Amino acid sequence: MSGREYEMTVGIEVHVELDTKTKIFCSCSSSFGGEPNTRCCPVCMGLPGSLPALNAQAVEYAVMAGLATGCKISRRSAFDRKNYFYPDLPKAYQITQYNTPICKDGSVDIETEQGRKSIGITRIHIEEDAGKLIHGGDGMTLIDFNRCGVPLIEIVSAPDMSSSEEAKAYLKKLRALMLYIGISDCKMNEGSFRCDVNISVRRAGDSALGVKTELKNLNSFTFAKKAIDYEFERQTAIIEAGGRIEAQTRRFEESDGKTYLMRSKESENDYRYFPEPDLLPIELSENMIKRISENMPRLPDERKAEYISSYGISTYDAELLVSDKSVSDYFEACAALTPYRKTLANLILSELMRFVEGDGFASHISPSNLAELATLAGEEAINASVAKKLLRRLWESDESPLAIVERENLRQINDVVWLTNLTLKAIAENPKALSDYKAGKTVAAKSIIGKVMSKTGGLANPSLLSDIVLAELDK
Ligand code: ZN
Ligand code: MN
Repeated sequence: MSGREYEMTVGIEVHVELDTKTKIFCSCSSSFGGEPNTRCCPVCMGLPGSLPALNAQAVEYAVMAGLATGCKISRRSAFDRKNYFYPDLPKAYQITQYNTPICKDGSVDIETEQGRKSIGITRIHIEEDAGKLIHGGDGMTLIDFNRCGVPLIEIVSAPDMSSSEEAKAYLKKLRALMLYIGISDCKMNEGSFRCDVNISVRRAGDSALGVKTELKNLNSFTFAKKAIDYEFERQTAIIEAGGRIEAQTRRFEESDGKTYLMRSKESENDYRYFPEPDLLPIELSENMIKRISENMPRLPDERKAEYISSYGISTYDAELLVSDKSVSDYFEACAALTPYRKTLANLILSELMRFVEGDGFASHISPSNLAELATLAGEEAINASVAKKLLRRLWESDESPLAIVERENLRQINDVVWLTNLTLKAIAENPKALSDYKAGKTVAAKSIIGKVMSKTGGLANPSLLSDIVLAELDK
């Protein structure tokens, strides 16, 4: 079996819990957790006679998600009932948008080793979350309705991805965008950003798509990637053996990395969607859409363009800086305090990122300290290796780098006369290095440079020193 003869087609549905104070149709708190069944009321419990009232903030957040993903915003959209019975859904229907989603026809650009690719966004609709079932070890199942009615948007991609790497890049980009616009905390471990993956396999070159399976509720980038890779192998093996793929909903088991059948896939018709009679359609005026779009936070692409044009940072580095909002925010806080933005970007990307991923820079090194370090390095008051060492010390303590440099005499040595004298001495003490160099072994210069550097306690200006050593050896 060769995977290369088959190709996969992947589409992803992402559910994002919106960070509103209250639930979508009632005034219960929508925050995560809480004592079970303490954040619910007749509306979110679906008791007879209760009526939903739409949360305007949820609508605004959905529009922001649409604008961030280049969607068209519907001037008019409406709610429908999706009917199904499940114990975590006390009304036995979910209020969602079926025929008329609030946003549609957008796209998100992703970057993989294969280059840039645009992934279509088919639609974004607003809906309510269901409760949570808690399966106990004793065979009992408990239910917590606190999550019932927490506002969600569901972002549905086109089936535009053809590898697990693309799927992962798409999920990361989408999550970053949602964090940039601040509509959700996107905590994957708390389920506020979770995805269902549709995947099908076909022989390379076939025009018709294969039958797809749906992988439910993947809650990490890594699991999503693993689940897709496993499912590709599983489906390919069935086709190779002459079998047929069944439309199924499957779950990914983290412990063995395999997917398991949950149920045969229901068709859309099974849900008996019909218009929600208790809610008016959402009408958005051009003015409202305009106001929301004018108040949109700066998105990663806009920040990236600014870093490249105003700060002279490379496209590659700018892309890295904006891939995580907390990194980008930190960079900007520092950049406001130093003119040496390229040096700053280098310190963050090639040094700091090794210490910590994502959040947490600012809590370890204040923007003013990092900016000061970038200025010292940018002005060549210290050399690169001293800058690196200082960075590690700033990680531990909150002392000003300038104060450390002054107290410990860490300034870079640019004194040509002194460096020349040290060089002459080092050459005199190492006649073999000189004769090796004269015999064509140019690496011998390195040992002289190293000796002088250590005589200066590592403080010499490295490029100046290298020039002096080479000039003396060439004499
Ligand atoms: Zn409620
Ligand atoms: Mn949904």
